[in-house]
Amino acid sequence: MRCQDKGETVKGDMYLARSSDDGILKRAENGGVVTSLLKFALETKRVDAVVAVKARGDNRYDGIPVLISDPEEVITTAGSLHCVTVNIPRYIKEYLDGAFDTKLAVVGKPCDIRGIIELVKREQIKLDNLFLIGLNCSGTLLPMVARKTIVEEFGADPLDVVGEDIEDDKLIIRLRDGTEKTQGLVELEGKGYGRRENCRRCEVKIPTMADIACGKWGVPNNKKTTFVEVCSDKGDELFQEAIKAGYINVEPADDKAIEERKKKEQEAIDSALRWQEADFAPLRDMTIEEKFDYWWKQFGQCIKCYGCRDACPICYCKDCILEADRGVVMPGEVPPNAMFPVLRTAHVMDSCVNCGQCQDVCPAGIPLARLIFMLNKKLSDVFKYQPGMDVESLPPIRSVTDRELTMPGVELTL
Ligand SMILES: Cc1cc2nc3c(=O)[nH]c(=O)nc-3n(C[C@H](O)[C@H](O)[C@H](O)COP(=O)(O)OP(=O)(O)OC[C@H]3O[C@@H](n4cnc5c(N)ncnc54)[C@H](O)[C@@H]3O)c2cc1C
Ligand code: SF4
Ligand code: SF4
Ligand code: SF4
Repeated sequence: MRCQDKGETVKGDMYLARSSDDGILKRAENGGVVTSLLKFALETKRVDAVVAVKARGDNRYDGIPVLISDPEEVITTAGSLHCVTVNIPRYIKEYLDGAFDTKLAVVGKPCDIRGIIELVKREQIKLDNLFLIGLNCSGTLLPMVARKTIVEEFGADPLDVVGEDIEDDKLIIRLRDGTEKTQGLVELEGKGYGRRENCRRCEVKIPTMADIACGKWGVPNNKKTTFVEVCSDKGDELFQEAIKAGYINVEPADDKAIEERKKKEQEAIDSALRWQEADFAPLRDMTIEEKFDYWWKQFGQCIKCYGCRDACPICYCKDCILEADRGVVMPGEVPPNAMFPVLRTAHVMDSCVNCGQCQDVCPAGIPLARLIFMLNKKLSDVFKYQPGMDVESLPPIRSVTDRELTMPGVELTL
């Protein structure tokens, strides 16, 4: 039995939903449910502010996280930006004091929500003060790569693009004059264009660890509808009250819509697993000597800017062991000694959420996310721990016993 029959929503229920506000519906990516929920949460004072993402001016390649407390302003954040990779977990932790004193509704992709959950476990963010509104995700493009892809592969002016989308392994751009252009992702990515490499490998596509998961998969023909899955009691309450107050119109998703969504998710996961194999196999299959040479050369380019540490949602120590005063990494030593990458990798590899932020910021182009996520997958296989999925489940390296680490068959090598 679904929501409408009982007059209430239930965790796990799925809906096809639309905003009742024509203005929101016009600007929104799909049914405007995300923007309507944000507006409802602010107007009913359930939250003090909302955290969303918007383009700076008209520039779709220059996205910023925004904190909004005026309900009328929320509409400016409607729509999906596929070339924006802002760091929402760090934004909440660093600039909003971990939401310890503020109630927030936060919108994020699966890796954003997973990063937040890992920071909650480390007591850097207060979950009780958050409504997490997750977006399904097939991937993002680095702004610079996106511009290059649009010029060189689509023959278009990046500033003429008013929308982009990823559907059925294709990258679609919509131009100001109403035309659409499409290119195959596999072909583009084979040439070094397209999505960030962590996104190609990402296998968490529907953020069921959030309070509500919103997306387009499963929506029949009419694009102006959002497919919603209610994922927690908190999400249930917010969604139900927004429906009652007339902000959103819903119908239960039928079996066909649910099947279609599941099919799309599975195709995206299968593609991610193929990318993982393609990226990891060459590294995994090297001899020990080759591995050592390869990574030594990579980290020999490190300029010790600390960008990877500062971007990573998992790095949170106030007294970081990589600082010069801790005596492990010497001041002025560039590249730093091997303890720098070894310690950083060891500190985060059990909880890496594959957000790619470390690799995006590295000025030396070191494939950091590839290394750390590869190790994380290995640990996940051993400990059956997938980071960022469940706030109750603690990172294995902190909770594992010596006996477990020395069990036959448990090998944690690069
Ligand atoms: C990069 C990306 C890829 C996506 N891929 C898929 C997919 O493959 N399958 C699928 O079913 N759905 C996908 N979605 C979700 C879909 O595009 C819609 O966001 C979702 O259906 C909600 O629609 P809406 O009209 O209710 O949202 P709206 O009311 O339009 O609100 C959109 C919200 O998304 C936020 N937002 C926009 N860009 C970003 C960003 N880069 N990072 C974080 N937040 C952002 C805005 O701040 C706004 O709050 C993707 C979304 C994004 C951002
Ligand atoms: S890592 Fe996954 S969730 Fe994050 S932007 Fe890429 S595809 Fe989306
Ligand atoms: S190690 Fe890199 S990819 Fe993994 S969580 Fe940290 S920043 Fe993200
Ligand atoms: S971001 Fe790159 S260059 Fe900077 S400290 Fe990390 S590995 Fe070194």
